Amino acid sequence: MEIPLAQQFSDLQFAKDADGWLESIGDKSISEQLAEGKITEIIICTVAVKGLLLPIELTTGQVFFRVLISNLNSFDESYFVLGHEISHTFEVYKEEHRKYRASKSWPVGLFELVEKFCDEFSKIWLAINGKEKIVMFFENSGAVFGKFYGRN
Ligand SMILES: [Zn+2]
Repeated sequence: MEIPLAQQFSDLQFAKDADGWLESIGDKSISEQLAEGKITEIIICTVAVKGLLLPIELTTGQVFFRVLISNLNSFDESYFVLGHEISHTFEVYKEEHRKYRASKSWPVGLFELVEKFCDEFSKIWLAINGKEKIVMFFENSGAVFGKFYGRN
């Protein structure tokens, strides 16, 4: 069994929420999982990093997320990136994290810790879903350059 994230990352309060969500996956489809994470679009494009989670804040105060995945990634890297970015939805709107992101000044080591957390989350996420389910999702969504998942 995997060691719970809350145990591995006891300094990150949201790790417990992430563990609970991972446990709830069961046989939910990837689309259902994305909907729960409020991820409405995935775009494969030219981007300077392997992946990015972009919050979209509506005037109503509702928040959705768009995931950008680098077109230079291999498929395996893209699957991993998707899990990693889902994981960011657990922390990105925590009050103190918004502050750090806005000012681009994180307490020493915290940014790296969050990135490590997201990588560990993604490994568990991939293991729970199984590669086949994620490959199917990408294929059925037409994973090509440009938007392949989400609203038109
Ligand atoms: Zn990250």
